[in-house]
Amino acid sequence: MKLNIQARDFLMANDYNQVRRFATWVRIGVLFTPWGETLIRRYYQEALTTLSHMPNVCRAPTQTNLSCSLDWMEETEKNTFSLWTTFHPSQTAADAFLEKCEALLNMGIRFSVGAVGLKEDLEIIREMRNKLPNSVYLWINAFKRKADYYTDAEERFITEIDPYFHWNNQAHPSFGKDCRAGHTTFSVDGKGAIASCHFIKNKLANLYQPDFEQALIPRTCTNTSCKCHIGYVHMPELK
Ligand code: SF4
Repeated sequence: MKLNIQARDFLMANDYNQVRRFATWVRIGVLFTPWGETLIRRYYQEALTTLSHMPNVCRAPTQTNLSCSLDWMEETEKNTFSLWTTFHPSQTAADAFLEKCEALLNMGIRFSVGAVGLKEDLEIIREMRNKLPNSVYLWINAFKRKADYYTDAEERFITEIDPYFHWNNQAHPSFGKDCRAGHTTFSVDGKGAIASCHFIKNKLANLYQPDFEQALIPRTCTNTSCKCHIGYVHMPELK
């Protein structure tokens, strides 16, 4: 009898250790890429706050134009929550945007500032760079709708603001190449439909169905090229 109790205790301890080990091992990062501005809605604020505190969520960032109130961010877990902010010079006054950035810095919220690299906005984007502290990365989203949009001088001008611009100012050939999309990273919509990435709308599985993870396997890209940071960042060859 004593032996049986010891065996049971051993099994429970073993199970406990295995569950604890798994629960601390499994980690997921969640990036919200909404259509439109969502942080003006309380339920998005609450969802991100909740996610940021979950022990197995390692990152909970979202895109935003900072038109929302910021007070609620005080409640987020600062090591997990962060913002991919976008400055739209034609829609937002630079000073008002900078005020919001200063508030984020005071709250200890990590963020980057992005801007679409339209030619007519380059000067104001440079001013924004000069007014932000060096700790805040300002990145320029290359305007790719017109081929050969930038002159060499403009590329140099932009690269002085954003040294990583060249990575974004090209379409990375991707057909047949390894990509983590659809394996260790995936895109999911509001209904739980899983696709490889934002740019390939293959329906792989549904997040809320059992065994969805069996659809997540190593894959190669089926698109000709990958033009967006949230896509090509998952191509191992680009490191
Ligand atoms: S390379 Fe880009 S388009 Fe292709 S699967 Fe990866 S993320 Fe998607």
